[in-house]
Amino acid sequence: MNPTQPPTRLSHEESWGYDRKIMDYIHNAAAHGLYEIRGLGAKRPLPHFDDLVFLGASLSRYPLEGYREKCVTTTVLGTRFAKKPIELAIPITIAGMSFGSLSANVKEALGRAASEMGTSTTTGDGGMTPEERQSSKTLVYQCLPSRYGFNPDDARKADAIEVVIGQGAKPGGGGMLLGQKISPRVAQMRTLPEGIDQRSACRHPDWTGPDDLAIKIQELRELTDWEKPIYVKVGATRVSHDVKLAVHSGADVIVVDGMQGGTAATQTVFIEHVGIPTLAAVRQAVDALEQLDMKGKVQLIVSGGIRTGADVAKALALGADAVSIGQGVLFALGCNHEMYFQNGAHHAAAEDYARIGTAPGYCHHCHTGFCPVGITTQDPVLEQRLSPEVGAKHLRNYLKTLNMELTTLARACGKQNVHHLEPEDLVALTVEAAAMARVPLAGTNWIPGHGL
Ligand code: SF4
Repeated sequence: MNPTQPPTRLSHEESWGYDRKIMDYIHNAAAHGLYEIRGLGAKRPLPHFDDLVFLGASLSRYPLEGYREKCVTTTVLGTRFAKKPIELAIPITIAGMSFGSLSANVKEALGRAASEMGTSTTTGDGGMTPEERQSSKTLVYQCLPSRYGFNPDDARKADAIEVVIGQGAKPGGGGMLLGQKISPRVAQMRTLPEGIDQRSACRHPDWTGPDDLAIKIQELRELTDWEKPIYVKVGATRVSHDVKLAVHSGADVIVVDGMQGGTAATQTVFIEHVGIPTLAAVRQAVDALEQLDMKGKVQLIVSGGIRTGADVAKALALGADAVSIGQGVLFALGCNHEMYFQNGAHHAAAEDYARIGTAPGYCHHCHTGFCPVGITTQDPVLEQRLSPEVGAKHLRNYLKTLNMELTTLARACGKQNVHHLEPEDLVALTVEAAAMARVPLAGTNWIPGHGL
C-alpha cells in the first residue's frame, strides 16, 4: 500500500430496489421455497389518520368546557330493520378475533372489559365460547365463510350477527390456523381433527353474489325473529361498490376494514400488498351511503389500524358511526410487552420471545401458538400468563383512555356529541391524505381533485 494514498473506502451504499430486507426475502424463498405466514397487520408506512389534524375552536368556533359541559358518546347501531338495535355507551367496539387464535381466557377478558365500558365484542372463526357469551353484555356473532363452529342456537343467543365477506388484512383470502393451535377444545368446536393445519375458506359456501347474500341475510333475520341487527363486513378494496351492494343486500350495519387491519395468520404478501388503507376507505364508504340516501339509516363501522382516541375522532369526523379495534386490543393485553403478570408478580418474557425467533417490540408470531405473553395460544402453560381479570383491567383502561381522548378532541372542536364531528373539523398534512380524506391541505383551501 502506498502510505501517501488514503486507504480504499469500502462501499456502504445499499441498493434501494434490493435492500437488506428484500435480499433476506429472496434468500429465504430460495432456501425454503415457501412464502412467509405471520400475524398482525401491514408494517410498511401507509397514509394514515396521523396525516390529519383537527382545527380546534378559537374565535370562529366556541369550545366546550371539559369538566362541566357534557359530550355525548352514545352510539346506536342497527336502526334500519332490526327490532332490537344495539345501544352502546361509546363508539369504540372490539373486532372479531377467534377462539383458537386467542385463548379462552382472553376471549373472556374481552367480554368483561367491553361490558364494563358499555360496548360490544365480537366472536370470530370457530364459534362462540360459553365464557365469552356469559361475560359479554353485547356480543356480535360472526358468520364466516368457513362456518367453523357456526351454530344457529348460538346465533339466537347473540345480540347482532356479522356476515364476514372479507378482512382488511386479506381481502379475497381465507384465514389459517396452524396445527399447534388446534387443541382438543378448538378441534371439537370446529369439527376438525386435532393438531392438523387448518385453512379457512375465502368465500361463503352457499352464495356467490349480492342477490344470494340478500337471501342469506333474510334467513338470518328469520332465524333471529328480525330482532338482531345484521352487519356485513368487507375488506377495503372496491369500497364504493361493496358498500352499495351490502346496502342492496339488506345490511343494517356495514363494517369496512382497511388494510392496516390485523390477522392471526396470513401470508405476508396478502398483508402488505392487498387492499387499501383505512384512511382511503372511509370517505368512499360514506360517499356510497350518501349517494343511496342511506347515511344515518345504515350505520358504518370503520376498522383497520385504529390505535388512539385521535384515530377514533378522525374516523368519526370523516363519517363513521363507530370504530372497531383488534390489534390495539392485543397490545393493551400485553402483546409485544417484555413482561407478563402471573401469580401477583411480573415475569420477564424475553427468553420466550427468543425461542420463537423474535424479541419484544418485533413479534408477529401469533401463528406459532407460542405467544410469550399468553394471548394467542392454546398451550395450557402459556395461556395461564394472562388471566381474564388482569386482561379485562388493562383493556378497560385502554378503552377508557381512547374515549377520554375522543371527547377531549370533540369538545375542543365545540361539539356536544362526538357524532357531530365533521370533515370540516379536519385538515391534512400531506397531499395524499388530503386527496383520500377529501379535506383541505393544511394552510390552503385546496382539496386535490376538487379545484381551488
Ligand atoms: S406477543 Fe403474542 S399476540 Fe403479540 S404478536 Fe407475539 S404472539 Fe402475537
